[in-house]
Amino acid sequence: MTERLCLVHYHEIGLKGKNRSTFENQLVTNLHRALRAFPVSQISRISGYIVVETEDRRASEELAAAIRRVPGVARVSLAYKCGLDESEYCAAAVSALGEAGEFASFKVHARRSSTTYEMHTLDMNRLVGSALCESFPEKKVDVHNPDVTVVVHVVQGHTYVYAASAPGVGGLPVGTAGKVVTLLSSGFDSPVATWMVGRRGATCVPVHFSGRPMTADTSEWLCQDIVDALAPSGTIGRLYVVPFGEKQREISLAVPQALRIITYRRVMLQVAERLARLEGAKAVVTGESLGQVASQTLDNIAAVNEAVTIPVLRPLIGSDKQEIIARAHEIGTYDISCQTAPDCCTLFMPRRPETHARLDRVLEAWESFDHEAMIEELLDEIEWRDYSQCPSYHAPKGRLREHHRELLPAESGER
Ligand code: ATP
Ligand code: MG
Repeated sequence: MTERLCLVHYHEIGLKGKNRSTFENQLVTNLHRALRAFPVSQISRISGYIVVETEDRRASEELAAAIRRVPGVARVSLAYKCGLDESEYCAAAVSALGEAGEFASFKVHARRSSTTYEMHTLDMNRLVGSALCESFPEKKVDVHNPDVTVVVHVVQGHTYVYAASAPGVGGLPVGTAGKVVTLLSSGFDSPVATWMVGRRGATCVPVHFSGRPMTADTSEWLCQDIVDALAPSGTIGRLYVVPFGEKQREISLAVPQALRIITYRRVMLQVAERLARLEGAKAVVTGESLGQVASQTLDNIAAVNEAVTIPVLRPLIGSDKQEIIARAHEIGTYDISCQTAPDCCTLFMPRRPETHARLDRVLEAWESFDHEAMIEELLDEIEWRDYSQCPSYHAPKGRLREHHRELLPAESGER
């Protein structure tokens, strides 16, 4: 009986030589987790693909769409799985081509891997090709530059047939690139920056600084919505929230007005660095883009960066706002970031922030308050919420203790 399943293509993993099976296994694990809501019966590796099969043997477009969101997936084909019977796979090829949308020309590409099937691929091409020509008499065969290629692949006693495939997000499976702490505001940029490093295989642990108790906690809710939007791709392990309002007030009283923002940012980065150490993360990520706002001049970036030794990754440093906005639409965070919320950055804002900070002045301001004690206190007040869609996340042991305040009322335990 002909079945329907999803064939997952993952070309970039194929480049990884000896690490290949580690990457493939991680992708299989991540797919299992990402597809928990579907009646998946088996996810297996065959001959350069990952195959996702369902209990009812009828994989759907919805399943394919969920697979496409998982980092490491280059393309997904909703394919037919047949036996070795020629009439069965020819009929599947006719169905597959019929579902391929608008096209004028096609070709057949037969392959055989690890099989004792005797028919030569050239003969298979001819056989399937003539069945297709009969069913689609108005379409042309073009072996050099076809609009659609019908693939008929014989592997271990089965034939897999597909014509169309839809692009996935690409990148690498989450969990293959280590862990990062990302600085997440509710703006447009940092959710995109988080998603970008997640797509490159990093397990992401966002940290948000809210203005609480000096502002409402709206920015925290927006950040949770952002993380909820990103989490189904399996990139997010845990969200940390740091109530920062009180300390900002202290900073605003201690340092010259123009240096407030730089000082807030140095504190944020140091907290993120400490968290990274506790989490075993090897870098901190921000959504900065060169020159986008006053605080993102090279002078200011350098003055902030000086506070830490951990690598700070800035995946958007060369991106234009329009590119970032387009990506925010794609990943589903745009509408959330459109809602404005007072966060710690709108609190105690100077009238004229420094745009070209001098390091000696910044360091003088830095020494004018007990920043060590402040970082400790902020770490003690940190709150968090875990996201179970990320199989590669392992929570740190030791110093961080569960805080009393729940970040969200528990929703059916499914997070
Ligand atoms: P975004 O759109 O990400 O808010 P932005 O263009 O508004 O960025 P800034 O406000 O200067 O730029 O922030 C620069 C970066 O600092 C952000 O991309 C983010 O990584 C980090 N950041 C800013 N505010 C916060 C916050 N409240 N909590 C955590 N990180 C923050
Ligand atoms: Mg911002």
